[in-house]
Formats: sequence, structure tokens, C-alpha cells
Amino acid sequence: MENLILQIENLHKHYGTFHALRDISLCVGQQEVVVLLGPSGCGKSTLLRCVNGLEHFESGNLTIDGEQIDSHFKDWRRIRQKVGMVFQSYELFEHLNVLDNLLLGPIKVQKRKRDEVEAEARAWLAKVGLEDKLHAYSSELSGGQKQRIAIVRSLCMNPKLMLFDEVTAALDPEIVREVLDVILGLKREGMSMLIVTHEMGFARAVANRIVFMDKGEIVEIAKPEEFFVRPKTERAQKFLNLFTYHS
Ligand code: ADP
Ligand code: MG
Repeated sequence: MENLILQIENLHKHYGTFHALRDISLCVGQQEVVVLLGPSGCGKSTLLRCVNGLEHFESGNLTIDGEQIDSHFKDWRRIRQKVGMVFQSYELFEHLNVLDNLLLGPIKVQKRKRDEVEAEARAWLAKVGLEDKLHAYSSELSGGQKQRIAIVRSLCMNPKLMLFDEVTAALDPEIVREVLDVILGLKREGMSMLIVTHEMGFARAVANRIVFMDKGEIVEIAKPEEFFVRPKTERAQKFLNLFTYHS
């Protein structure tokens, strides 16, 4: 595939003697949405963390926005400005209001002009339906609102790739949708994304491709309509059965 934003080649990662990622190769094209599925503990978070330098890997290569990265790479600060990541827990600074939370990275790290960033921040907030929360503090926001703001905070850095790691796992069911809708909106705007989720309906709707992992390795890569209807492997079938009920 041409125009890849992310290419992972033959990545290996150990925690001590435990082989957490085994020869992982996958790519994300420009404007493509890849969803990583797999049982708890299979290495999804570890893989995302390797992609933005939060975990060290021992061998293999990454290419992010055309830049080659091997296990000796040091300049992660610069790469992280292109690769936004949102986790399950949404940690906004409690002593700063929403606007100041959003401006912090772009002004401090990217040295951008306040006016310009503020206009962008307001536009993003409007898109996620939170323009009225500009001056609110973390303690005044619901979990879903905080998570949407955590996403906006990442977007204000103008990333070229977004990584989402189970961003709705800690939210009440009725709130999950408002956060997933933000991610669906990003897809419509052409954002390239690598997403870990246990929301199967969402995975099917948002993904251009599904990557199924188990025990540190990639078992299957397929289009969502194929993966959810006719998974090729028994391991994927078993995993999908966990989300199906028969009375
Ligand atoms: P997932 O996100 O798919 O649930 P993780 O990437 O969090 O899986 O973990 C993959 C495996 O690596 C698990 O067996 C987990 O226990 C182990 N692991 C994760 N982080 C660490 C760590 N910091 N030290 C040791 N083992 C870890
Ligand atoms: Mg995880």
C-alpha cells in the first residue's frame, strides 16, 4: 500500500523473559482506520505504547510519517507530536480549566501562537459538542465529557495519526456512544487511526481493517465484513463467541 502513515515491521518486545510481542508487522494507510482486537493480555496496549515510544522494543522497525525508527531511536518527543494517544483514563490537569488544558501542549511543546491554537481548540470543542465547557474545570465534567476533552487535547497538537486504547472501557454504557461518535466523526474527516476497543459494533462500523491478535502475535488481518461474518481462524471465532449470547 502506498502512502502509509505507520508501518510496523517484525517488531519484538519482551518484558524480562516474557515475549509480549512476537514478530508484529502491520501498517496503517493515510486516512485508514485499523482496529486491533484480541483477548485481554494479548499485547494490544503494549503495541500502541511501542508506536509512540512509551515502551522500548528490542528489534524490528517502525516507519512513522516516513521516518525510520529502530530500537535505538531517541527523538520520541518529536514523533509524539505527530502521534496522538488517548487512554482509558482521562487525566486532565485539575487546576486548569478546559481551555488551558487544551492549550498547554501546543503552546509549551510546539511553541505555537496562543490565538491560533485557541481558535482551533474552540472549533474542536464545538465539533464534539462541548463549546460551552471552555472554562469548566475537570471536577465539573462527566466521565464522557472528560474523555471527549482528552481526545480534543490530543487533536490540538495536529497529529497525523491517532492511537486509541480502550477509551470507553471506564465509561457507563449510556456515555460510551458519545465518545465513539467523536471517533466516527474523526474518521469522516480522514484521520488515520489505530484503535483498540472491545466495542464490537463500533469496531465493525469504524474499521477499514481488523487486526486480530492473540498471545503476542497477529493471528488474522481482514476486512470487518469478513472478520465478523467469517473469521478465518478458530482463535478469532472463539474470541468473537465471547460477544454472542445464545439462550
Ligand atoms: P492488552 O492490552 O492486550 O490487554 P498488554 O499489552 O497490556 O495487553 O499486556 C500484554 C502482556 O504483557 C500481558 O501478559 C501483561 O501482563 C504483560 N505486561 C504488560 N505490561 C507489563 C509490564 N510493564 N511488565 C511486565 N509485563 C507486562
Ligand atoms: Mg490493554
